[in-house]
Amino acid sequence: CGIVGYVGERSSLDVLMGGLRRLEYRGYDSAGVAVIDEGGSLETAKRAGKLQVLADELERHPLAEGGTGIGHTRWATHGGPTDRNAHPHLGDDGRLALIHNGIIENFSELKAELLAEGFAFESETDTEVAAVLLGREFHEVGELREAFRRTVGRLEGAFTLLAVHRDQPGLVVGARRNSPLVIGLGEGENFLGSDVAAFVEYTNRAVAIGQDQIVSITADGVEVTDFDGAHVDVEPFEVAWDA
Ligand code: GLU
Repeated sequence: CGIVGYVGERSSLDVLMGGLRRLEYRGYDSAGVAVIDEGGSLETAKRAGKLQVLADELERHPLAEGGTGIGHTRWATHGGPTDRNAHPHLGDDGRLALIHNGIIENFSELKAELLAEGFAFESETDTEVAAVLLGREFHEVGELREAFRRTVGRLEGAFTLLAVHRDQPGLVVGARRNSPLVIGLGEGENFLGSDVAAFVEYTNRAVAIGQDQIVSITADGVEVTDFDGAHVDVEPFEVAWDA
């Protein structure tokens, strides 16, 4: 029920865990993070339970430091609240990670299609279908933004999605339909959140992503398109917030 994304110079894990804490008020049953380190390796951690359970796990088994990451709190709709069903879910043989708030209505059709092609699944979630599909598309086009555009074009329902791929460190892609997503604009860093609370500690300049739009952020810029890839102009606003 909460989503955070970050690209910049800070330790992304600190930004993600702080953002998830500020989104805790929405309620959730599991939490997880994925980080890409400088060397381009992708590491994830996820746990059912409170954010503190994940924090304790990260203390025992620290992830590599990296400036690109995504974080998630889950409110289970498909598949019980277990470690395995927690997000992120992986695709492209563990080279990409994806998080999702919402419901993918046509997941069983897509899952049947992917199973018939020989893809395997580790969870009972609707979300993992999007991760595996994104992996298949990435394998074909070799570029995360294009693979992501193809993937969201196949999905029905409600979703805020974020994804990272270890072959493109320094990039987070996201999309939204019937579910919120906001960009936080920084200097040499950028943020994504399901709500401004995710990043308001760092910046008060934000951009609301419109219905059926895709966003990509790097440390230096943001780009928004529609689901067909056509450019969309963004209009930043100032967040009024007493933190
Ligand atoms: N439908 C997804 C799941 O059950 C996402 C739920 C959410 O919005 O957190 O894993």
